[in-house]
Amino acid sequence: MRPTTATDMPGEPRIADARVSPPTIPLSVPVLGEREWEYVRECLGTNWVSSAGPFVERFERAVCEYLGDGYGAAAVNGTAALHTALLVAGVRPDDEVLVSTLTFIAPVNALRYVGAWPVFMDAESAYWQMDPDKVREFLVTECVARRGGLYNRSSGRRVRAILPVHILGHPCDMDPIVEAARRYDLLVIEDASEGIGTAYRGKPVGLIGDIGTLSFNGNKLITTGGGGMVLTRRADWAARARYLMTQAKDDPVEYVHAEIGYNYRLTNLQAALGVAQIEKLNDYVAAKRRIAERYAAGLAGVDGITVMREAPWARSTYWLYTVLVDEARYGTGSRGLLARLAQAGMESRPLWQPIHLSGAHRGAQAYRCDVSERLFRDALSLPCSVDLRPDDQARVIQTVLAGRSGTSG
Ligand SMILES: *Cc1c(COP(=O)(O)O)cnc(C)c1O
Repeated sequence: MRPTTATDMPGEPRIADARVSPPTIPLSVPVLGEREWEYVRECLGTNWVSSAGPFVERFERAVCEYLGDGYGAAAVNGTAALHTALLVAGVRPDDEVLVSTLTFIAPVNALRYVGAWPVFMDAESAYWQMDPDKVREFLVTECVARRGGLYNRSSGRRVRAILPVHILGHPCDMDPIVEAARRYDLLVIEDASEGIGTAYRGKPVGLIGDIGTLSFNGNKLITTGGGGMVLTRRADWAARARYLMTQAKDDPVEYVHAEIGYNYRLTNLQAALGVAQIEKLNDYVAAKRRIAERYAAGLAGVDGITVMREAPWARSTYWLYTVLVDEARYGTGSRGLLARLAQAGMESRPLWQPIHLSGAHRGAQAYRCDVSERLFRDALSLPCSVDLRPDDQARVIQTVLAGRSGTSG
């Protein structure tokens, strides 16, 4: 049996447990083929299975060739890549970082790994990404410049960086975010884990700010089983990332270390999967966009359902196809629709609890995060595997159409 999505979302209500059997139409599963077998077999045949070997470098190059720019440092997962990126960028203990609240929890946890503090920023209501207006407003009204830095009035801590998270395959509106960062001399660290193949005004996300990261977890658009990458346009930063990820080993032969490092490098075996997967990325993006078109057409005009949109300045991969369910108009809320889909053997999933509501980061500051709370209440991601069959998708659409209260499902 194929696995369901690999990233579990701790803290979410476990409504899906109500279903009686595994879903016949999963939310989003990896699609692997002959090439993956071929490259993995090559690793086994040559005995290069661990964190040295030709596929690691090949994968880094292939990703940067796809993006058309930059340097990559492959990591064992996206969270490790985020931790490393924060270290390389120089985010320090007690620094504050403005971060999206509507995100998978990994980037916020990574901030705490380096001793920095999150300040949660809301999503905007059109595309559900970090709201640049609220970011600017926070910097202008809640912060003060002194001693060569920008300080948060209420905490007294120095604000060092902005960490936008591109969610669901759509980019954040980066120009105003970068502009605000430049004005106050802040770093921009992009979490592009959900954004491989995603572009903002023609530029690949992850290479727009100072440093960025990708994830190749099993539920992402392409996968290495587990994996991630630090992205940067600076060769010295990429080298520093690789150094920190290999226990900060200073000499190719002798075991000497001037710094504390980490065991974060991707293995050759995983990188082999990645090289095979990225060859198919364009096809996968095209498949996701076809799925999005069919949902948009099939669900257009359903009262109370708002389909996912693409900004005029964006190229979305529609990595995880998501709709908003307005309980008053549709007749049941997002969790009610989830239960109805589950009964029909179709897997769906709410978005993440906004992190400012999470017990894990209790007490951290949140700036006017009301939109994220509404999106959390209303959003539901629908089945959208790259190999989702049109007739299966039609059944999902039928189930959503039939789910409106007053009609029997
Ligand atoms: C998947 C993901 C990550 C990284 O997750 P890993 O499982 O550690 O690869 C980070 N941020 C976001 C937004 C993600 O979706």
